[in-house]
Amino acid sequence: MFKQTATNLTTLPRQSIDAWIDSFDTVLSDCDGVQWIGRELVAGSLEVTKRLQELGKKVFFVTNMPVKTRAELQAAGVDRGYEVEQEEILSASYVTAKYLHDLKFDKKVYLIGSRGISQEFDHFGISWIDSDCSEKVDVLDAVSNGIKLDSEVGAVVVSFDTNINYSKILLAANYIKDPECLFIGTSFDEAYPTNNGAIVPGTGPNISAIEVASGRKATIIGKPNPNMCKSLLAGGKINPERTLMIGDSVKYDILFGFNCGFQTLLVGTGVNKLEEVRKWQKSNIEDDKKLIPDTYLPALGDLLPFLQ
Ligand SMILES: [Mg+2]
Repeated sequence: MFKQTATNLTTLPRQSIDAWIDSFDTVLSDCDGVQWIGRELVAGSLEVTKRLQELGKKVFFVTNMPVKTRAELQAAGVDRGYEVEQEEILSASYVTAKYLHDLKFDKKVYLIGSRGISQEFDHFGISWIDSDCSEKVDVLDAVSNGIKLDSEVGAVVVSFDTNINYSKILLAANYIKDPECLFIGTSFDEAYPTNNGAIVPGTGPNISAIEVASGRKATIIGKPNPNMCKSLLAGGKINPERTLMIGDSVKYDILFGFNCGFQTLLVGTGVNKLEEVRKWQKSNIEDDKKLIPDTYLPALGDLLPFLQ
């Protein structure tokens, strides 16, 4: 309808907005920066989401945040007032565990991450070793005598970890010296949205450290990789043309929508604002064009008057 034009919906007449609402039956919504920021709900987002469900739209929540299991995310959503089933949540930790399961991966994972992902591995019966249990590596000893590695490890998975340290980076980099050892990142988010301008580093910096040390690039499973909604696309559960992706980050949400052939809506309550998009519209770089959303709203809650 408005392919990659970043049309500001608040400037359109009611009729055009009604036609836009009629143009999708499935909604995929990012969480942080769209529905809530940290512990606080974004004003109006819950009401809009519920109203879309009442109008018969199927809503899924797609998050790169890997610290909670799907079960915990569902409980947290219900707690906040959302009507959400576990099957309606696509999280980077769940999808990463499922990715290894689908590969019939039967070795051990060296995991840099938190309980949110290790429990998803348990759910799929994937063995893992916890980087937090590793002994601290003696650097001079490593230089003289090399590194002792677990020969059963066949993948390094890097996720959100507030206890990342030198020993973990060193061990991960040494595991992936073996080209047969998989190197996976749950997502590459640089930082998470905040209400106060503070920089809260995400999973990306953890992955970068190991990429720099090893010279290898991680396979990123989370957004913008369409793998995040493979189960919906492959099962024919959704029609991409009649699916709307809502997000606050162009690099992860809008590009994800582009890669999946969805319509896209950027909201200005998180990482990116409309002024930045206007700059990319003037760019001659082809990849910049993929970051331009079809539509824009300052906040998801701005849609509420049009859904009554
Ligand atoms: Mg976000």
